[in-house]
Amino acid sequence: MMRLPWFSYRSPATIAEAASILAGEGPSVMIVAGGTDLFPNMKRKQQVPKTLVSLRKVQGLKRIANGTGLTLGGALTLSDVVAAEPVRSGYRALWQAAAQVATPHLRNMGTPGGNLCLDTRCTYYNQNFEWRQAIDFCMKKDGKICWVATKSRLCLAVSSTDTASALIALGAKVRLVSSRGEREVALADLYRNDGMDYLTLKSDEILTDVMLPAASGWQSSYWKLRRRGSFYFPVLGVAAAVRLGADGVVEDARIVLGACAPRPIVTKAGELLIGKHLTDEVIAEIGAKAASQAKPTDNTDLDLYWRKDVVANFVGYALREVRGDDMRTERMRIARQSLQAVG
Ligand SMILES: Cc1cc2nc3c(=O)[nH]c(=O)nc-3n(C[C@H](O)[C@H](O)[C@H](O)COP(=O)(O)OP(=O)(O)OC[C@H]3O[C@@H](n4cnc5c(N)ncnc54)[C@H](O)[C@@H]3O)c2cc1C
Ligand code: SF4
Repeated sequence: MMRLPWFSYRSPATIAEAASILAGEGPSVMIVAGGTDLFPNMKRKQQVPKTLVSLRKVQGLKRIANGTGLTLGGALTLSDVVAAEPVRSGYRALWQAAAQVATPHLRNMGTPGGNLCLDTRCTYYNQNFEWRQAIDFCMKKDGKICWVATKSRLCLAVSSTDTASALIALGAKVRLVSSRGEREVALADLYRNDGMDYLTLKSDEILTDVMLPAASGWQSSYWKLRRRGSFYFPVLGVAAAVRLGADGVVEDARIVLGACAPRPIVTKAGELLIGKHLTDEVIAEIGAKAASQAKPTDNTDLDLYWRKDVVANFVGYALREVRGDDMRTERMRIARQSLQAVG
């Protein structure tokens, strides 16, 4: 049985108190929200904080606020997000992504903040301590080289969060608070293309809110490839958000790929859609363009060449759903969930 190592546990009641503890403890402190990613990592000695600051009792991190757009507290549960009517009706890609994270139990614990800050994943890293010790570890933790690309100075561990690509496609920003003040950043800018140092978030910053712009005029969709339909991390996630004019011409669009690189990839395919109708021919062309930007590596589940090939198909599913096609049969075949279009 893998046991948690010893650590101190702090449970502040306010954001200011949490920020002050984080500032005082230095780099050996980490935030814990649902703990569904961090605790397994601690048991495997991949992350070894001396102090944990829990967000569980912190006030003000669990709000859902409607304004011109929608604000979601960083420590809501993912089940709260899935159940929220404004999410389901206005931000379908987010609803579909959150509904496909892990299992109901894990969604009852896991949070948007934790999902967005999720550790990157790799076959050579997501193993217990003894397994990793047997290969002399790897650069991401305790070792010297990368087993995926031995000459690489960057780690290629994969961004495996479902909600990040959906939220980036929807134009989300995040609010980051520390004892030094607060800042808002476009969610896409939260990520770096290095699986070891994958966030621009500082160790003393708390992701307090996810802010979405107004949804009116936008349609969105999220499609996920994974080995099991019941649950598991994405080996590909495709999020598309499109604003259609009254004549059916695309006025704005974003297509984002998850689980293809150390960070979500904002493709150029979205821009190419602008000014076009969502015909089958255009959708095929855009799918091929997005696939050309996918950079899957041989360190997650399923064959990497096949994973790159199917990007075009998944972009096609997402754009057809955005167009209004009835995709329920495809959804059942691929995701084994109906995740039916609403709104
Ligand atoms: C069996 C299994 C299957 C899973 N399947 C999926 C899946 O399909 N898709 C998927 O996306 N994830 C999956 N996960 C991972 C995880 O359950 C979810 O990503 C979950 O949303 C993580 O949220 P959490 O609150 O539990 O994060 P935690 O484990 O508490 O934290 C994760 C990281 O985020 C940081 N953090 C948390 N909250 C904040 C905050 N507010 N501000 C700053 N930093 C913060 C922590 O310090 C830590 O580094 C799976 C996990 C398991 C065990
Ligand atoms: S990509 Fe390389 S350095 Fe990163 S976790 Fe995998 S083996 Fe380690």
